[in-house]
Amino acid sequence: MMQKLRRCWAEVDLDALRDNLAWIRHRVGNGILVMTVVKADAYGHGLKQIAAHLMRSGTNVFAVANLAEAEAIRSVGQGWPILMLGACLPEEVDQAVADRVMPTVSSLEEARRFSEAGQRHGCPVPVHVKVDTGMGRLGVALGNAEEMVVAAVDLPHVEVVGLYTHYAAVEDDPEFSATQRKGFDGLVRRLRERGIPIAMVHVNNSGAMLQEPESLHNLVRPGLMVYGVLPPGRRPVNEALGHQVRAALSFKCRVSYVKEIPAGATLSYGRSFTAKHTTRVATLSAGYGDGYPRAGSNRAEVLIRGQRCAVVGKITMDQMLADVTHLECVEPGDEVAMIGRQGDEEIDANEVAVWCDTIPWEILTSISYRVPRVYRGGCAA
Ligand SMILES: *Cc1c(COP(=O)(O)O)cnc(C)c1O
Repeated sequence: MMQKLRRCWAEVDLDALRDNLAWIRHRVGNGILVMTVVKADAYGHGLKQIAAHLMRSGTNVFAVANLAEAEAIRSVGQGWPILMLGACLPEEVDQAVADRVMPTVSSLEEARRFSEAGQRHGCPVPVHVKVDTGMGRLGVALGNAEEMVVAAVDLPHVEVVGLYTHYAAVEDDPEFSATQRKGFDGLVRRLRERGIPIAMVHVNNSGAMLQEPESLHNLVRPGLMVYGVLPPGRRPVNEALGHQVRAALSFKCRVSYVKEIPAGATLSYGRSFTAKHTTRVATLSAGYGDGYPRAGSNRAEVLIRGQRCAVVGKITMDQMLADVTHLECVEPGDEVAMIGRQGDEEIDANEVAVWCDTIPWEILTSISYRVPRVYRGGCAA
């Protein structure tokens, strides 16, 4: 009944998510912790449902971008360590400590703030020190990192439980990645020689798991691959590896109207499409207000009745148009896959990203709040 009422929705296959996590675990091997990255509403899949499912599927640690996300995870299950990847704002420090979120610190000054908060709260604060090896976003400069970690370890109410860095171009640039990897490895070695134990040492996001298996250390931080999407890039990905994960999310809408237009007729705002011949056009019940990027106008494709159909004319807020001239039959109510599979055809987030001049991360996280997330599978652990 509800199914019939849906105009635009995202279907999330929880079994795919569980299998992807199992494959990641298999790939990295025994004894390596898996920190699943669930920032931005679990890459648009719905944070609470995904966090609860990943808990049942054996994730070790979560990574989030802010404290509200950490709170949402706590609301569905207690006890999992949570790393906040972003820097805490000064006024967030006490909240982070009260919520037992592991903060990322990039300077001794930040670490001191947490030590003072730890004293106020009467508990040591577990922190991860971030090292900037070339990303240039957060992190203490590699050259100052050893000294900073040594000083942070000496703070009375802080416990340095993690040390990490982040690749800037791991999908594209092997040389720069090797420089980052070697710099970080050297730091880890020097700290070890000084007898400073750090529980969680980590570098690898999804792309690095595929391209830089040497920087495995003892924890990985995958996001995109957990959701079954391969990070795109210039470095070739072993096809066999690529087929080990499957996309968890499908983005769907419906045909709402079908008509025929004569040669010379134009479509949608700005009249950017002109029919070259008699054309059958389907109006679809989704638009950029649902998070389908307007940049896909006149470039993207969707699946209807198992066939690819070109998106024609400008995508509007709530509706878009597709050329269905080549379909034998199409009717209002037909299901449309903007991302997903119909029969033998599949459109994935990477393909949509190319049409829309962006990256799959942005495609997934742009699916708007208006789009209900519908969950399938995931019953048996
Ligand atoms: C988002 C993020 C990740 C996950 O990256 P994917 O490419 O989605 O696997 C890992 N580490 C950091 C620091 C991040 O910001």
